[in-house]
Amino acid sequence: MTARLIDGKALAAELRNESAVRVDRLRALGIVPGLAVVIVGEDPASQVYVRNKARACEQAGVHSTVHALPATTTQAQLIAFVQRLDADPRVHGILVQLPLPKGLDSRAVIEEISPAKDVDGFHYESLGQLVVGDPGFRPCTPDGVMKLLEHEGVALQGARACVVGRSTIVGKPMALMLIHAGATVTVAHSKTRDLASVTREADVLVVAVGRAGLVTGAMVKPGAVVIDVGINRGGDGKLTGDVDFASASAVAAAITPVPGGVGPMTIAMLIANTVRAAERRAGIAARMETRIA
Ligand code: NAD
Repeated sequence: MTARLIDGKALAAELRNESAVRVDRLRALGIVPGLAVVIVGEDPASQVYVRNKARACEQAGVHSTVHALPATTTQAQLIAFVQRLDADPRVHGILVQLPLPKGLDSRAVIEEISPAKDVDGFHYESLGQLVVGDPGFRPCTPDGVMKLLEHEGVALQGARACVVGRSTIVGKPMALMLIHAGATVTVAHSKTRDLASVTREADVLVVAVGRAGLVTGAMVKPGAVVIDVGINRGGDGKLTGDVDFASASAVAAAITPVPGGVGPMTIAMLIANTVRAAERRAGIAARMETRIA
């Protein structure tokens, strides 16, 4: 079997176009959706992500401002900075690029963002809404994965899903979203024994670890849908996922590539959330408000 390629780049472009239409509607009311991105230190991967996010925002008509703070920034300075952004009416969404340099407490910083501007979906209030299944901002990467699965027509009710990775950014919210969609979900992580026996059970396999080639074709159930969230830079500078694409695509029914799979979807969801934050402030009911998580 040769797996169907799940084209995240194409779907992300569609979603960005949808956002651009909503931005036009806001601009006609004199509102320019604004995203403030805060990056601390010089982590090269984070700098690339931030640049990509800013570029995609501008293309969709969202005004984005990147605030690059030095690695020497103290916790108190960072909190004061985020508080200023939070009070700024031109800013509808705030994203603090993670991870922060050692010594900075990301949780304390995120809690300074008002839930109304929490377009990354990491505030306790947003995470609580996710657990309960109430409307709210969802973490962008797992939300993007759900959009991909929906667009591909993957039946989740009653399906066996496996999420490899249990981070707060990807793995845990991903598992919750799949549960809400009716899947029976197993979460595997660094302490899981015999990972292959767990992944091979999955009709839908989502891998978010950060280890190139961790999941091989032998670990994939024939006919499964495989979503590779991992981003790893090889010695040659090329990006690869956590899934060994060659062997897995010989077994799976459908698979996301890296790059061009989940990555562009994350950015598209961030833009959609920022537009939605601006719509909410303007009192325009967004379609997404009524969505069931
Ligand atoms: P993380 O380091 O916070 O979490 C990694 C998880 O993998 C942990 O829960 C750990 O228990 C698990 N793990 C580690 N080794 C394992 C093993 N041998 N077997 C099974 N599980 C193991 O990472 P994260 O922030 O969740 O990111 C994971 C990957 O996804 C990274 O490559 C990151 O770059 C990528 N990522 C991509 C996007 C995107 O938009 N595509 C967004 C966020 C993260």
